[in-house]
Amino acid sequence: ELEVAIKVVIVGNGAVGKSSMIQRYCKGIFTRDYKKTIGVDFLERQISLGGEEVRLMVWDTAGQEEFDAITRAYYRGAQACVLAFSTTDRDSFEAVRSWKKKVEDECGEIPTVLVQNKIDLADHSVVEPEEAEMLARSLGCRLFRVSVKEDVNVGPVFRHLAACCLEE
Ligand code: GDP
Ligand code: MG
Repeated sequence: ELEVAIKVVIVGNGAVGKSSMIQRYCKGIFTRDYKKTIGVDFLERQISLGGEEVRLMVWDTAGQEEFDAITRAYYRGAQACVLAFSTTDRDSFEAVRSWKKKVEDECGEIPTVLVQNKIDLADHSVVEPEEAEMLARSLGCRLFRVSVKEDVNVGPVFRHLAACCLEE
């Protein structure tokens, strides 16, 4: 039986919720004190999409993003990308373009989505909704507003990426 496997990388500044998102999506849980180092390179989840079984391998950075030391091995062979920023962290929003460039330099053009995480903290937002939409448009990717904490819109991010990969 033919099985499709997709390597997905999640990039963005530290503390935007990347590790939490991987844990939420692959294990279905959210823990406040989820450690930066989970001791594995990736977690995986299998979904069925249009009659096909798709295995998503979602890679975590183990905190190296703070030192700008993400290795080639992290990006190698990635077929889809999540660009993540936080609703309450302006720097993380401003950094999205440079993250996209890093991925492009290593992987070329791959299906990519923009994820605004922590929308449960919208009352403390430092990013206007129009700004996020404009950024998504100028990067040519879809915007997903997500709360990993409250489990809002996490699944659709990965289904969308998987669908894009299957189309190619
Ligand atoms: P990473 O450095 O990008 O991997 O971020 P983490 O997954 O370690 O998350 C950083 C902090 O943000 C942790 O304290 C998480 O519990 C918290 N966090 C992650 N997602 C959300 C969310 O959707 N809402 C809120 N309020 N906090 C979140
Ligand atoms: Mg992390």
